[in-house]
Amino acid sequence: MQLKELLKKIKEYNPKADLDLISKAYDYADEFHKDVKRLSGELFIQHPLNTAYILAQLKLDIPSIAAALLHDVVEDSNVSIEKIKQNFGEEIANLVDGVTKISKLKYQDQEQRNNESIRKMLLASTKDIRVIIIKLADKLHNMRTIKYLPEEKRKKISQETLDIYAPLAYRLGIASIKWELEDLAFKQLQPEIYQKIKEKFGKKRIYREIEIRRLKSMIEKELKKHDIQAKVLGRPKHFYSIYKKMITKHRTFDEIHDLIALRIITDTVKDCYEILGIIHSLWTPIPGEFNDYIAMSKSNLYQSLHTAVIAFNQPVEFQIRTQEMDNIAEEGIAAHWKYKGVSGDKDFDKKLSWLKQVLQSQQESEDTKDFIDILKVDLFEDEIYVFTPKGDIISLPKGSCSIDFAYAVHTNVGDKCTGAVVNGRIVPLRCELKNGDIINILTSKNAFPRRDWLKIVKTTLAKTRIRKGLRLQKKIPLNIIKKNPIEKEIIGKEDYVIIKKQPNAKIKLSKCCSPIPGDKIVASLIKSRTYSIHKIECPYEAKKPRLKVEWNENINTNINIKIIAYDRVGLFADIFNTISSTGTNLKNAKAKSIGNDMAECSVTFLSENTDHIKDIISRIRKLQGVRKIYLD
Ligand code: MN
Repeated sequence: MQLKELLKKIKEYNPKADLDLISKAYDYADEFHKDVKRLSGELFIQHPLNTAYILAQLKLDIPSIAAALLHDVVEDSNVSIEKIKQNFGEEIANLVDGVTKISKLKYQDQEQRNNESIRKMLLASTKDIRVIIIKLADKLHNMRTIKYLPEEKRKKISQETLDIYAPLAYRLGIASIKWELEDLAFKQLQPEIYQKIKEKFGKKRIYREIEIRRLKSMIEKELKKHDIQAKVLGRPKHFYSIYKKMITKHRTFDEIHDLIALRIITDTVKDCYEILGIIHSLWTPIPGEFNDYIAMSKSNLYQSLHTAVIAFNQPVEFQIRTQEMDNIAEEGIAAHWKYKGVSGDKDFDKKLSWLKQVLQSQQESEDTKDFIDILKVDLFEDEIYVFTPKGDIISLPKGSCSIDFAYAVHTNVGDKCTGAVVNGRIVPLRCELKNGDIINILTSKNAFPRRDWLKIVKTTLAKTRIRKGLRLQKKIPLNIIKKNPIEKEIIGKEDYVIIKKQPNAKIKLSKCCSPIPGDKIVASLIKSRTYSIHKIECPYEAKKPRLKVEWNENINTNINIKIIAYDRVGLFADIFNTISSTGTNLKNAKAKSIGNDMAECSVTFLSENTDHIKDIISRIRKLQGVRKIYLD
């Protein structure tokens, strides 16, 4: 390849492009790679040049193409990013820096390198997603020329490509790169199967072409009748996708359905549906093969109608879409540089939400291996579409439950969810959601994420948020314990508990377990005629001899109780009203915040008897947010 081919390609879609800048970047890179050759024997500059050309085919902007030309300069020679910045400005320097960071970890051990380089790649792109697109083009050119590497290296790189880069291209909607990466990797990993499919595919070519021509002319005739403008194209099938279908559907090559595949490209969405109607009236649709990705676009921006019919005793697959949808299907996120700028496009940001989720999760995830697993799962999961009560569509991986949905709506909704109403019926949070469900999440201010949710949820986002919520929760009880250390010292409350045959025994309620009337209790002798009272399950002093004892049923004195609760508006008023509403004579009440959203309330009232105390405690315990009650 030569520079002028690249310039020509750029001019095709961007006649006003600053081609001098591209030439300057080329010369600069050429100078630094001057004496270097690739394993193929070509000059090294061919690699950045081809990488840049792939980006020009995707119609990327000038800074991306310049950065592609310069992408190996920093890594392979001793040029600093600072130098690139002086010569080409900050934007291009940042792109080169991003790509360099990804490749730098090449020399670490295998397991580490995979995980780390992906982290870096994604991290770099938090600032600019073009870094990933440049990296994908770099990867694509390397895969095209992989045959010059030793076998072991080829296998390893191909596996990585299949695991990480092809799915990434898919998620960014860049189908053209995705297919090619997959087929190139497949060829390395399963050479025999690849060859077999290729041969069989070749043998059937003539037959297929005749069939396609026949179908095409029938459709074109019908379109004319209906006065619809559209292009009917035969569609190339990719070997890896054929192989995948053979595996997942347990079919032989001859049984694979959609070897005959057509694509129809038209002007408007309305035409798409009309064409679908025409095809379904010409031939019998195959049940379960129709998908409307126009009304419900995939999270990678892909839009199209899919259907399959039986035509002339064989299955034929159709894709129907507008020209813009077709561009986006082939180029994905890259297509956006053609129509709109990067910044200030709200819709664009929305469409990148998946990527942001992944980025966030890997920044928060403590374990890199875990992150890769998450990434792999998310990339391959099928999607379902569900609705908020207002009718907003939310796409989730298949198998998701209401908790996933709640987190997709908002972190606070997820953290505080207690139940779900699906299609008007209350269902457990763990219930799997189905396509088209309408979900209303029930929340409570004092709810917290639960550890067992981690086993139920499917989405990366939910997992990350739940872990974060759990960490936060752990911090809160730790702080409470710090503020209220278990005191071994105990308080004397002579007449609360009756110890048989020991009428004058002194009683102290232990503070380690803070027993309250209603609890089953035991007494242990701490010194002559003095007993400490514990809950029966309290482990403290459990080895000492213990007496089973009963609460005095006629506790008729001023009682102080302390209540620890999540702080909220109206908490104190609720406690106050609860006690007053029983007609109790409230002597004193106060509340204070003890930090971390917790409050401590103390109340003093005159009890009539022990049941009265139990009644008040059980009423307060039912109040929202109350965590602990004890006698003071
Ligand atoms: Mn490179």
